[in-house]
Amino acid sequence: RFITLEGGEGAGKSTQARRLAAFLEQRSLDVVMTREPGGSPGAEIMRHVLLSGGAEPFGPEAETMLFAAARRDHLAVTIKPALERGAWVICDRFADSTRVYQGHAGKVPLGFIQALERVTVGEDRPDLTLILDLPVKVGLARVASRGEATDRFEKEGLAFHNKLRAGFKAIARAEPERCRLIDAAAEADVVAESIRQAVTAHFGL
Ligand code: C5P
Repeated sequence: RFITLEGGEGAGKSTQARRLAAFLEQRSLDVVMTREPGGSPGAEIMRHVLLSGGAEPFGPEAETMLFAAARRDHLAVTIKPALERGAWVICDRFADSTRVYQGHAGKVPLGFIQALERVTVGEDRPDLTLILDLPVKVGLARVASRGEATDRFEKEGLAFHNKLRAGFKAIARAEPERCRLIDAAAEADVVAESIRQAVTAHFGL
């Protein structure tokens, strides 16, 4: 089973990924938690390049292909072997982030992204995608209160973040079989419970 978590900045994806992993592990399931960009030794090198600003010399399409290269390696090295042995894979961000960050909110035509997704991901799409949705200002305030160094995407303006939110919502609407929109403005415990409900219902646990 392959589950992805998606959403804008400060949505709480990594906290919720950990909590979902703990919930599934309690049921004695084999769980692999991973994240993008990164998730394999090669893709972690790409993550550093992409998020530190090291990819700035590349144009938007080439940069998107770097994300895709990282994803392909992550799938081949980490995700597919885990799924093949029967593990549950929980991934913090996946191909929807590329559609939204580089597509809806970025400069890359969606047709280019779709074509690239077909060759990069193919049939290895997630079984379930949890889209953590919350008002942009709430998410950005959470990021600010973390007090960590912000990456280059977090530094974008409000208009960019509003496009991210709209992009994720559009994906949820377009693919209701695969996607569940989760209200992520609530407290972490409440969000975790709605995620558990979505997962147990989807997989008949
Ligand atoms: O911790 P988080 O998942 O938010 O960090 C990943 C960063 O990578 C985010 O700031 C996001 O903006 C960026 N990203 C991106 N395009 C992707 C995946 C991630 O711009 N396809």
